[in-house]
Amino acid sequence: MPNTVLVTGGSGLVGKAIEHIINTEAEGSRFGKLPGEKWIFARSADGDLRDVEQTKKMYEKYKPTHVIHLAALVGGLFKNMKYKLTFLRDNLAINSNVLEISHQNKVEKVISCLSTCVFPDKVEYPLDENKIHIGEPHDSNFGYAYAKRMVDVQDRAYKEEFGDNFTSAIPTNVFGPHDNFQLEDAHVIPALIHKCYLAKQNKTPFVVAGSGKPLRQFIYSYDLAKLFIWMLRSYDDVTPLILSVGEDEEVSIKQVADAIVKAVGFKGEYTFDTTRADGQFRKPASNGKLMGLVGDFKFTPFEDALDNTVAWFVANYENARK
Ligand code: NAP
Ligand code: GDP
Repeated sequence: MPNTVLVTGGSGLVGKAIEHIINTEAEGSRFGKLPGEKWIFARSADGDLRDVEQTKKMYEKYKPTHVIHLAALVGGLFKNMKYKLTFLRDNLAINSNVLEISHQNKVEKVISCLSTCVFPDKVEYPLDENKIHIGEPHDSNFGYAYAKRMVDVQDRAYKEEFGDNFTSAIPTNVFGPHDNFQLEDAHVIPALIHKCYLAKQNKTPFVVAGSGKPLRQFIYSYDLAKLFIWMLRSYDDVTPLILSVGEDEEVSIKQVADAIVKAVGFKGEYTFDTTRADGQFRKPASNGKLMGLVGDFKFTPFEDALDNTVAWFVANYENARK
């Protein structure tokens, strides 16, 4: 029987990128479909995964053999700071339902999605796959972080008690087409693209939150999509795998804002609102384990990926999530 791959959260930033790659790479190629393989990209209207009965119905309908589990309550620093309990409760419920119903339906493999936010705040850098549980996460997003950490705990428990092949990926900050570009609730790149676009249209100042000094690693959603497809084919260890550019590729928020100003073509006043939070100063993650396993893989240069994302936002302004 050919595989049926269910992508939960299939309408989001990462889900849309996987859909794009799987539909554009040649069948049978490294990141393409296998012959006869079916891919389903589910959105919340197909079933609210916080609800176990709706989760069961989704599995009865699609009968997945493999699951890439992306669905989550997601947001940038400011949304995480505001809704800690909701991030904790919704994500615990979604993840518990997806893993348990995958188990009950004898799904052959589940790859869930964590984030480098799950790592401890006080820890020796770079982050690696063995450091997830050795200290408290940063206070700004502990609801999201603890919910996501429990995925790794559940994966290990399902494996030890039942032998299930459940694992997880840990991407850094992701950006690309189809992102959530909300001004207040989005991650930094889509929020700043939207703010800069409006500043250009309205001839108003472009205001970046915080000091501009924090450092982040960013991954383009199309690169991440290829790595998820590679993991589906080739990675069968329960230990999570960091999906990231190199630890020497940290970029400051000021560098991000400068690149956005250039890509948008904004010429007006540009300031930093230092009354707003910086969040975690940095969280550099090692991609050493990934690079040792994946073989030849080239990440898209940051500025090229940013240009593509800005161009997508401008071309799709009316329908973009904002
Ligand atoms: P996104 O664009 O906000 O998309 C979220 C997806 O989850 C959407 O398809 C949404 O469906 C679905 N969803 C949300 N609540 C749901 C529910 N109760 N039931 C069913 N589906 C639900 O998120 P993303 O950025 O693609 O994130 C994908 C994964 O990557 C998440 O697990 C996230 O934690 C992780 N991640 C993201 C980043 C980042 O920078 N964006 C970084 C690290 C890790 P609807 O659109 O229909 O509501
Ligand atoms: P994080 O990487 O999980 O912390 O999440 P974000 O993608 O939200 O990035 C947060 C960093 O970007 C912090 O240092 C913020 O101060 C900075 N930042 C600057 N402007 C913005 C903005 O408009 N939205 C967001 N979310 N962060 C911003």
